[in-house]
Amino acid sequence: MELGIKGKVALVTASSKGIGKAVAEMLAEEGCSIAICSRNKEELIAAAGDIKKKFSIDPVWCVCDLNELKDIETTVESVKKQFGRIDILVNNCGGPKEGNFQNLSDKNWQSAFEQVLLSAVRFCNLIVPDMILREWGRIINITSVAVKQPIDNLMLSNSLRNGLIGFAKSLSNEVAKFNVTVNNVAPGYTLTNRIYDLAVSRSKQAEKSHEDILIEMAKEIPMNRLASPEEIASVVVFLASKQASYITGNTIQVDGGLVKGIY
Ligand code: NAD
Repeated sequence: MELGIKGKVALVTASSKGIGKAVAEMLAEEGCSIAICSRNKEELIAAAGDIKKKFSIDPVWCVCDLNELKDIETTVESVKKQFGRIDILVNNCGGPKEGNFQNLSDKNWQSAFEQVLLSAVRFCNLIVPDMILREWGRIINITSVAVKQPIDNLMLSNSLRNGLIGFAKSLSNEVAKFNVTVNNVAPGYTLTNRIYDLAVSRSKQAEKSHEDILIEMAKEIPMNRLASPEEIASVVVFLASKQASYITGNTIQVDGGLVKGIY
């Protein structure tokens, strides 16, 4: 199937590694101009180098802490300066701090709110008005299966990601008539640094090895394995495509069957 996004400009946030990087690479493969951002300059340069080597394009990269409005503004300005517009916005973020009700501080909540929800709102504030004017746009938020089935010890993720789902649904209603779609992809357990860190943390509490924790995670999943970042990216890229023109306001799980509920 021809996805019809050759020549579109895509900004993928939190994209120096993991799912965000896989999405940026797959959009590059489809012929998009690519902008990536994250906090760590060295990792960004390495990610941009990988993309250049694989797809012979020069991605724009911007050091950006998603908790900082100024960084978000500078990132959007740099991408617009280089490419003139942004057609596809993929809002990804780092995973918020682990913890349960009793061990999270007010500061932890504030920081997670800024990273998980407010950063996506801020990018949309800066980018959606132009999409409305051009009458074309794709926004995809990367969330978590936690929005369907809360995950133990991830109170911040379980709580704040559903705020993002509410924002996305409301925004999708407001911008649908301008051919701007807004959707969410909810990954299950995926083989990246984030899942490795969670496994290490759980292994300390359970006095087991992190390898055993990863095996236990896989056993929870009907497919009996974790996802690759590319398996999440392919759904994001389809939602970004011309072919996904009538899908909006949705949240699509990519979880190997992990969520046990019907809806
Ligand atoms: P990852 O740790 O591999 O990559 C996270 C990326 O976010 C990196 O590029 C990092 O530099 C960047 N980042 C972190 N904090 C940032 C900040 N404050 N500002 C800018 N950039 C920042 O994570 P991943 O596994 O690719 O996960 C991506 C998202 O998907 C996360 O929100 C994660 O919680 C969520 N998720 C992951 C899984 C999984 O199993 N891996 C499952 C469900 C949801």
